[in-house]
Amino acid sequence: MSRESERLFADATRVIPGGVNSPVRSWRAVGGHPAFIARGEGPWIHDADGRRYLDFVASWGPLVLGHAPAVVVEAVTRQVGLGTSFGAPTALEVELATLLVEALPSVEQVRLVSSGTEATMSAMRLARAATGRKRVLKFVGCYHGHVDALLVRAGSGALTLGVPDSPGVPAEIADLTVLADYNDVDGTRAAIRAHAADLAAVIVEPVAGNMGVVPPAPGFLEMLREETARIDSLLVFDEVITGFRLGWSGAQGRFGIRPDLTCLGKIVGGGMPLAAFGGRRDLMSMIAPAGPVYQAGTLSGNPVSVAAGLAVLRTLRADDGAYDRLERLGGLAEHVLREALASAGVPGTVNRVGSMFTLFFGVESVRSYADAVRADTDRFARWFRNMLEEGMYLPPSQFEALFVSLAHEESHLAELGRAAARALARL
Ligand code: PMP
Repeated sequence: MSRESERLFADATRVIPGGVNSPVRSWRAVGGHPAFIARGEGPWIHDADGRRYLDFVASWGPLVLGHAPAVVVEAVTRQVGLGTSFGAPTALEVELATLLVEALPSVEQVRLVSSGTEATMSAMRLARAATGRKRVLKFVGCYHGHVDALLVRAGSGALTLGVPDSPGVPAEIADLTVLADYNDVDGTRAAIRAHAADLAAVIVEPVAGNMGVVPPAPGFLEMLREETARIDSLLVFDEVITGFRLGWSGAQGRFGIRPDLTCLGKIVGGGMPLAAFGGRRDLMSMIAPAGPVYQAGTLSGNPVSVAAGLAVLRTLRADDGAYDRLERLGGLAEHVLREALASAGVPGTVNRVGSMFTLFFGVESVRSYADAVRADTDRFARWFRNMLEEGMYLPPSQFEALFVSLAHEESHLAELGRAAARALARL
């Protein structure tokens, strides 16, 4: 890593734990110190040393239009001039909520919050209140933010850093979390039935993104829908990554499943801090002040964030070809990475759903968490560093998703393929 990023990282570690404001930004899993980013445009980011990279992190998913798209810059600039926060309702929030309700048939009412963690935390509280039950079931390797009860065998940074259970989460709270294996249809059905009397909710990433991308097995999501309905428990889709990425109606539209509650984040905020949870009207009307379940936020529905989110969602809605294009670009990325693996004779595989994908090293197929953790993380680390030298900015972990955006062009994916081949040849 070059001089300015090194200097900034040294300064950062003095005043910020680990030098980063979120652990996934650390390069501990791949070695070296993170590049500090100065700016982005379209599919590119530039670091503090003036190096330019093709970006496949996309701020971990939000940037479906790429960096600094004109529609977002204009909307945010305009709103900043009008005031950044009022702590009172605005017309923009009504428009965003209406748009979310229109896009997602399972969502009849929605509450805006500021982060994905807040969305899942609030959804769990609501599920417990609505059912009068305590336990929630989550899947090993799925990440739903750093909510106490959900930070149990979690994915993403918790997986990368090998601290699946965090100190500070009381055992009594972790005890309320039931674990099951993603895509294990029979085992999960048995776990749901075993806890039928006290299970408030099953929360799932409908396409797992935080153990690397793992698509749902045929029948898996359908089984979750059936079994939760059978015991009057709630099915909560965490669509923080997949919402507005895998289609206008998210993963639930793509797979034809109607969850009771949905958590959104990332794309809905257009790159600003904004997230949401919503679902059935009878459930959402329990939220304060309509009902007794307390949930609040000084900056919830922040007008600048809402303006950014609306700009992105309006753009996606107006572009009939957006999701076909994301699918095509994702398919191309998968193709060039597979070709690169084959030509270098490096064992591995590529999992992809739409515009999210992961190249796993040293494994033939990845259908579960157990498969994912068999991946060769040392080889990934070397590839990551080689790719950086090739001008490709990837997530600094084997267990994350890469994203393409509408700012990527076919030529950029051809570049990805050539860079990948060279980086693999040098492993
Ligand atoms: N759910 C999923 C599926 C996520 O990927 C993330 C973050 N990567 C979260 C929830 C938490 O969102 P946030 O980081 O905004 O709290």
